[in-house]
Amino acid sequence: MSDKFLHTILLIEDDPGDVLLLQEMLELQGCKARLVTVERLSEGISYLQQNHCDVIFLDMNLPDSSGLPTVTRLLEAVSTTPIIVLTGLSDGSFGTEAVKLGAQDYLLKGDIDGRMLKRAMFYAVERKKLEVALKQTRDLFEREARIDYLTGIYNRMMFNELLEAELQRARRYTTDLSLIMFDLDHFKKINDSCGHTIGDHVLKEVAQLVSDNIRAHDVFARWGGEEFMVLSPKNMQSQAAVLAEKLRSLCAAHDFGNGLHVTASFGVTQYKSDDTLESFTARTDEALYLAKENGRNRVESH
Ligand SMILES: [Mg+2]
Repeated sequence: MSDKFLHTILLIEDDPGDVLLLQEMLELQGCKARLVTVERLSEGISYLQQNHCDVIFLDMNLPDSSGLPTVTRLLEAVSTTPIIVLTGLSDGSFGTEAVKLGAQDYLLKGDIDGRMLKRAMFYAVERKKLEVALKQTRDLFEREARIDYLTGIYNRMMFNELLEAELQRARRYTTDLSLIMFDLDHFKKINDSCGHTIGDHVLKEVAQLVSDNIRAHDVFARWGGEEFMVLSPKNMQSQAAVLAEKLRSLCAAHDFGNGLHVTASFGVTQYKSDDTLESFTARTDEALYLAKENGRNRVESH
């Protein structure tokens, strides 16, 4: 088992005898990695904040921390470096607990030999790599579950979650809450005459244009196709209508490339005390329908 994957090992250990023992074992195994030793958990953490290391050996009882909190505190500080816990024979049960918390392995002091040490390091590094890769994949899935792939803004599922939360807040604190729904006019024509690549480009540009012109706490999402939603907390209908009018005129004035112009129709409504998610969005949809009926490229409130 090669240890070429190891460049730096950090040993957080306050007992000089144990430090020496580990040092000798690593040397006897021909391990070429640099061994950095610190006595306190806080020193280990500050070392890790500035330096990369491949594996950490952690004594659980240190001058500034003892028992399982030692592991927890180190895990909070470093999330991608494997940790092997060193426990005394008397507190071996801590080892399994430490692994449950997120350490990769544990070794009983007084019961370690060189080969075991190397094996433990090798597997700790491999397991940690898998764990990190798994977490990245999970994060990506979570992101994809709430972000619209084309525009990078929230998708409908995420929007509904946030809308539900805002509705509860409006109900509880009787604060204003307004909703704007808008839809690009004759979007099918753009796709048909310019192609879907241009169509997609228009959707992305609109998303960017609106993102740049709403408040940080407004919630913006792609509702589906060429339909978008802007949820505007602490805004009453008339204020939301002003915002909608601003977005409408920005969109109408925007050059989408090669002189291509696109307009949008807007529906605006305000939360009423007996509203559900369905009734609130349906009323906004009706306002949008009115805007379409009345000639498009306009804002209607309902
Ligand atoms: Mg100790």
